[in-house]
Amino acid sequence: MKIPLIDLKAQVQSLEPKLSEAVVNTLKEANYILGSEVKKLEQSMAELTGSTYALGVASGTDALVLSLRALGIGEGDEVITSPFTFFATAEAIAMVGAKPVFVDVEEDTFNIDTTKIEASITEDTKAIIAVHLFGQPADMDEINEIAKAHELFVIEDACQAIGATYKGRPVGSLSDIACFSFFPTKNLGGAGDGGMVVTSDEHLFKLVRALRAHGSGQNGLEAYRDILGVELKDHEETGDSVYQGAKYYNYLVGYNSRLDELQAAVLNVKLPMLAEWNQKRRFFAKEYDQSLSKTNLVTPFIKPERESVYHMYVLKSEERDKVVKNLNDRLVATGIYYPVPLHLQKAFEYLGFVEGDLPVAEYLSKRTFAIPIYPELGIEERSYILSSLKDSL
Ligand SMILES: *Cc1c(COP(=O)(O)O)cnc(C)c1O
Repeated sequence: MKIPLIDLKAQVQSLEPKLSEAVVNTLKEANYILGSEVKKLEQSMAELTGSTYALGVASGTDALVLSLRALGIGEGDEVITSPFTFFATAEAIAMVGAKPVFVDVEEDTFNIDTTKIEASITEDTKAIIAVHLFGQPADMDEINEIAKAHELFVIEDACQAIGATYKGRPVGSLSDIACFSFFPTKNLGGAGDGGMVVTSDEHLFKLVRALRAHGSGQNGLEAYRDILGVELKDHEETGDSVYQGAKYYNYLVGYNSRLDELQAAVLNVKLPMLAEWNQKRRFFAKEYDQSLSKTNLVTPFIKPERESVYHMYVLKSEERDKVVKNLNDRLVATGIYYPVPLHLQKAFEYLGFVEGDLPVAEYLSKRTFAIPIYPELGIEERSYILSSLKDSL
């Protein structure tokens, strides 16, 4: 039996003809930039994440960049994050001109080890990006406490954790500003790139709203006012003959980073299914946990009072390469997340890390692998995955 790591075609089939209808209607509507579908998805995301505001952006990476920019982070600043995550978490820090500062992770949860954060704080530290890796929320109470003591901002990289909860609260509501991705293979995936920023801070909302569209027009003016912290009258009142607040009047150097209307239409069809899909992932994870408990594989560890959405089901093995090869020979796909911790990536060579600096992340990068856990898996496929895996040990 051939089993992919994720089956996007099966998901599309399960939602037809709704998906095609939504796409065709959006096409005919021809309101392609920040139309009603984006607005609708933003409302749903604000609700889902317990946040006041949500803004659709072009990708999860851009969500991180815009969040950092909104917090005023740039050249000369340092941002603490995990070295065991997708590259974009740290890439975004570098993109705004700041320095990524990597703090090692916990061997069992794969998330940042909060006991090691304080040693890495300097007078240039401005923020911590907490990553909820593979769907499990990071230690947000500890992170927020450290941030408060040192006057740092906290950003959640919730790209892998849409729908997850921490002490009963949804991810996205546990920090100053949070980032989501709709990359096709994420738990809620579009038909292309997409992302979302959520926050309950009006100032940050205004900044991201302006930055995602060239810092222009009325949204640009409102952000500009907020940054300056002064009363700036509306264009109609100023009598300014140059700045009249329409489209081509720019107040900030921003980005072209809007969530596409067609993507939003697709995502609006999929979003009502998310809770059920996440539920299935959790159910399958429990099945896997039980079935693999007596093997030499280490199954995922989820801390109490948090609900993972198992974006990935990641196992550890002392003989990973052998197990993965045997499993692939049986046509069960696997994924390695992540083969190179970020501090050892060539792109971050300039930061000066060497092997041995962050031993837990390095240890994990040689032992972890993911097996399929997508919600469309049937019972026979799941048993095949498990029996193949046991035969591969
Ligand atoms: C996917 C992902 C991103 C980036 O999202 P894109 O939409 O692909 O830009 C950032 N951080 C993490 C942890 C991710 O998994």
